[in-house]
Amino acid sequence: MTLQELAKSLHNCQRCKLAKLGRSQVVFGVGNPHASIMFVGEAPGFHEDQKGEPFVGAAGKLLNDLLQSAGLSRDQIYIANVIKCRPPNNRDPEPDEVETCKPFLMQQIQLIRPKLVCTLGNWATQTLLERKVGITKVKAQAFYMKDFVIFPLLHPAAALHQGNLLDTLKEDFKKLKEFLDRHSQPTPAESAEPAAPTLNIEPPQPAQMDLFG
Ligand code: SF4
Repeated sequence: MTLQELAKSLHNCQRCKLAKLGRSQVVFGVGNPHASIMFVGEAPGFHEDQKGEPFVGAAGKLLNDLLQSAGLSRDQIYIANVIKCRPPNNRDPEPDEVETCKPFLMQQIQLIRPKLVCTLGNWATQTLLERKVGITKVKAQAFYMKDFVIFPLLHPAAALHQGNLLDTLKEDFKKLKEFLDRHSQPTPAESAEPAAPTLNIEPPQPAQMDLFG
């Protein structure tokens, strides 16, 4: 299956109750299908639901600025959410919704094959790490999984709601840039791709795999 075929198969998805709770459309994901870096958020909000794209509106604009500070742009990365349909009134996703929709995120990851997955906020981080761990404990650190590295970050919307988190988020994107600089290989000048960083991430080290004790 290709990414496009997966998107088409979810076009009118009715597999969980969010299909009948006021969503306008399924928000599948957007970006470079060959990206070495993926960003994963929680669920579409009002603007995302209207436009059919993740991270538009104020949180999306802040994310664009933060990406730029890390030397990245939207056309170099792929962005998706754990949940593809907007929960009513932007409530937290419920466990049955996460369980039903998560396999589609995992299929996206399998098809795009990123080296690095930056999870934005508690929900995405806990879903991909498969651990009930607070984002403040794990943010801006690299967690080596079998096929990719997870780099959790605060959700940009959190910094919009709590202004004191903005500096923390900016600092954490600096740490992301340092991580990328350590692991990036020069992109061939003749590359037709939109200069997506080529990452060379070392295989997992036992100490790095056991950060949760
Ligand atoms: S949230 Fe996911 S599983 Fe639920 S209807 Fe939307 S696409 Fe389908």
